[in-house]
Amino acid sequence: MAEITTHQLVKEFPGGVRAVDGLDLTIADGEFFALLGPSGCGKTTLLRTIAGLEAATKGRLTIGDRDVTELPPGKRDVAMVFQDYALFPHMSVADNISYPLKIQRVPKSSRHATAAETADGLALHGLIDRRPGQLSGGQQQRVALARAVASNPTVFLFDEPLSNLDARLRLEARTFLKRLQRDLGVTTVFVTHDQAEALALADRIAIMKEGRIQQIGSPREVFARPANTFVASFVGSTPMNLHTATVSGEHVKVAGSSVPIPPSARSRVSDGDEVIWGARPEYLRWSTEPVEDSIEGSATIVENLGAAALVTVDAGGTLIQLVVDEDDEPEMGARGWVVPRIDRTLLFDGASGELIL
Ligand code: ATP
Repeated sequence: MAEITTHQLVKEFPGGVRAVDGLDLTIADGEFFALLGPSGCGKTTLLRTIAGLEAATKGRLTIGDRDVTELPPGKRDVAMVFQDYALFPHMSVADNISYPLKIQRVPKSSRHATAAETADGLALHGLIDRRPGQLSGGQQQRVALARAVASNPTVFLFDEPLSNLDARLRLEARTFLKRLQRDLGVTTVFVTHDQAEALALADRIAIMKEGRIQQIGSPREVFARPANTFVASFVGSTPMNLHTATVSGEHVKVAGSSVPIPPSARSRVSDGDEVIWGARPEYLRWSTEPVEDSIEGSATIVENLGAAALVTVDAGGTLIQLVVDEDDEPEMGARGWVVPRIDRTLLFDGASGELIL
């Protein structure tokens, strides 16, 4: 059992910066859990506090059935992989991988056998006598993973381990990491500022802002039902359209037009309420013919996305973005109608930004 729990966990740095501000969190045994948020939100500090590299200012932290709040990193049974891999440049790949076992005083022959076996498992066969400087970035990243795997920890802590790889290698490494974690079933906490990475890898994601958690949910939940406008704008490869709107009967007035209120919010709003209308670009359609319950405008920018295009529509000064299939791509400047998928649009409270459900 390696469930991780935090109880009112606080990490304050000298000068009064509260990087982690009273977190209550439970990460399940075997779960792949992502900490996602913008730069400075406290995700690395939380990870380092779980690792024991930072001491908690207040609160408690448990791993499995042990309270580890006061324990040094070496006694927590966790393995961390850093963004820069932190390999020892003067040691061979084999020695890098088996280093944690040396610290654990595992006999040499057994250490070497584990290192060779782990290296094979991570597609590093034939490289174990090289030094890190003689490896590609992707190979170095796998050595860092192998070192974490070889120590057979109860928890993996990953601090943006894919961010130094180029785009293509990053995708490959992502799939590799997901398979590795699923095969090993080790509880994993993964820090990233890349929402696509978090959505692709995690069983659940915590979205952080200023040391606090905004929402915890499955990738599908945080994408489809963001708790507030912060989460809505942070999750998704193209940002959600968020525009002020006014409730009028069964509709909201937005960008000079009138569109239906999503069914999930109908009973929660009344005439005249100021709300924020939210629609993901993927859930809007472009029509060249007038359509009831749509928003009229002109396509001002068309960006090619390969099999699709991102179209920016100017609707009386309000800019709305939509993703259209390559066959439906409008000409630059063309007039048309933006048609929302009503069951996929959201309303947020105009004052607090909280999702209205
Ligand atoms: P990034 O993605 O840029 O690494 P992050 O979300 O991981 O950001 P942290 O590195 O955890 O954020 O930092 C959270 C806050 O704590 C920031 O305001 C940062 O300036 C502050 N902070 C981090 N480390 C220290 C430190 N050693 N001393 C003082 N303040 C720190």
